Amino acid sequence: MTLPILIAGGGVIGLTTAYALARAGAAVAVIDSGAPAATAAAAGMLAPSFERALHAGAALEIFARESLALWRALAPEIEADAGMSVDFRTDGILSVAFEGEKGAFPEDMRGGTPLSRAQAQAIEPALSGDIASAWFAEGDGQIDPRALLSALPAALSRHGGRLVRGRRVAALKTVRGAVSGVTLTDGAHLSARAVIVATGAAADAIGPLPPGAVFPVKGEALALVRGAGAPARVIRTRSAYLCPKADGRVVVGATEIPRDRSLTADADRIAALKRGAARAVPALAGAAERERWAGLRPATADGLPVIGAAPAGPAGLFYALGHYRNGVLLAPATAAALTRLILDGAGASALAAFSAERFIPEARA
Ligand SMILES: Cc1cc2nc3c(=O)[nH]c(=O)nc-3n(C[C@H](O)[C@H](O)[C@H](O)COP(=O)(O)OP(=O)(O)OC[C@H]3O[C@@H](n4cnc5c(N)ncnc54)[C@H](O)[C@@H]3O)c2cc1C
Repeated sequence: MTLPILIAGGGVIGLTTAYALARAGAAVAVIDSGAPAATAAAAGMLAPSFERALHAGAALEIFARESLALWRALAPEIEADAGMSVDFRTDGILSVAFEGEKGAFPEDMRGGTPLSRAQAQAIEPALSGDIASAWFAEGDGQIDPRALLSALPAALSRHGGRLVRGRRVAALKTVRGAVSGVTLTDGAHLSARAVIVATGAAADAIGPLPPGAVFPVKGEALALVRGAGAPARVIRTRSAYLCPKADGRVVVGATEIPRDRSLTADADRIAALKRGAARAVPALAGAAERERWAGLRPATADGLPVIGAAPAGPAGLFYALGHYRNGVLLAPATAAALTRLILDGAGASALAAFSAERFIPEARA
């Protein structure tokens, strides 16, 4: 019997990769500890045009664009397999600036069309009359990350893969320099032909990555009840972004607090996000808050994810970490690249910029 590929971590990265592997015919299982996933905290914007974090290098920009293109096919496939919606939309993202601000489209961002206030309000009538300028990125969009966390395990099981919840991977097992499986914190041993570490910002990274290579950047966000006058599509301002969801929420985010592992949402910072949302869309000033939360984005010092084979071994160990602010966007490209790499041994050079080699001096020498 062929041993399975094991994935440690059932966030959007681990689950999307498992789904891709299973569809390609591989035996695959995801082990998820049940610790809060960044994915459950994400707004779900798919915003290659506006995300400054994606401009950490040409390789990441290209990867992000490819990933958004992959979502267009993947989202309906997940929905068909799971029998549920993931609220995927590419109806564009509108970025707005107010009087005295530098503009809705800072120079280090990409794509999009400049709009007058009247043009912006024609696209999004909910917008404040106080905006000074706007940019519209036609192809950008959003998806519902919580819906994905429900749909992906169901879709995965349709292809023979499985998600094991509430169990934690403690360590890798190796035999003669190659991965042979993992040990769980409950003492169980699971055999595997390959292991993918997709544990997000978890402190106890598995395998030979140096401590702190991936670190948390806490993000706080909230959801308002989506009533009359709410926007129809994603709106971004300098102080907040607004993501209307089909389930009746407007997700408003987000703060950035590096290296804070707490999951409390600070009242003052949440209030500031609310003010930012109401400034862009005045009808939201009276909207009831449904929920507030915090999540830990998995970040790296150079802003690039860590995707690919562990450069110093053991053979059969792969990383899918450090997707920072854009893990939802980058999940399909990550999944496709790892599937190709693991099943066909191909595509390693396309992942060179994301190699863990940059963290491991011995591997660079
Ligand atoms: C407020 C906020 C807003 C965001 N908005 C967006 C957005 O609009 N668009 C976007 O693309 N991205 C967004 N992000 C970023 C996005 O959430 C992350 O990049 C992405 O979710 C990372 O996914 P992941 O699967 O790597 O990690 P996670 O989702 O954190 O999943 C990791 C999983 O691994 C499990 N785990 C950890 N250790 C172990 C172990 N030892 N054994 C087994 N399981 C383990 C955890 O329980 C967890 O379920 C946002 C993040 C935050 C916090």
